[in-house]
Amino acid sequence: MESDKIKINLLERKAELESRVERTHRHTFHRDEPVSANFNEQVKQTENDELVRALEAEAKEEIAQINKALHRIEVDVYEQCAHCGGEIGVQRLQAIPYADSCIECAE
Ligand SMILES: [Zn+2]
Repeated sequence: MESDKIKINLLERKAELESRVERTHRHTFHRDEPVSANFNEQVKQTENDELVRALEAEAKEEIAQINKALHRIEVDVYEQCAHCGGEIGVQRLQAIPYADSCIECAE
């Protein structure tokens, strides 16, 4: 596998996620509009905030996985299963670039 290409893809994905976290963070914590006085509006806003926060947590989790994958490339164990030491397989890595276990161990 061309690890340089994989690395570039992972770094691009990471940059994308980081800008998403940045945006959602701004949305949640630095909102310009005042909190609505209308109760239903407040509920809606809270639900929206929760969704945004969940998306942010998801993006952060993926960033953590990408960082791990980048480290795995660095130490040259990217294609090796972290559990059984076998090959993860190119197809699986193409589908999930930050997979750290082979299909058998992941199940
Ligand atoms: Zn395995």
